Amino acid sequence: MKVKIIEDLCTGCGLCIDTCSDLFDMEGSTVLVKTENVPEGQEECCKEAAENCPMEAIKIEED
Ligand code: SF4
Repeated sequence: MKVKIIEDLCTGCGLCIDTCSDLFDMEGSTVLVKTENVPEGQEECCKEAAENCPMEAIKIEED
């Protein structure tokens, strides 16, 4: 599973970091993904973060 942030959409609200802090981190006013390939133990919180993102800025590619 892979994850990307669409930087143009991200408002930097920080919700995804609250949901999945091992995967997302703040960089300036937007968020970066620490590792594009989602580690197994973080798939659930990654999906939750994508579902909850108010800007739909988190895109997941399932394997
Ligand atoms: S939840 Fe969405 S809009 Fe908010 S910081 Fe994360 S990617 Fe950006």
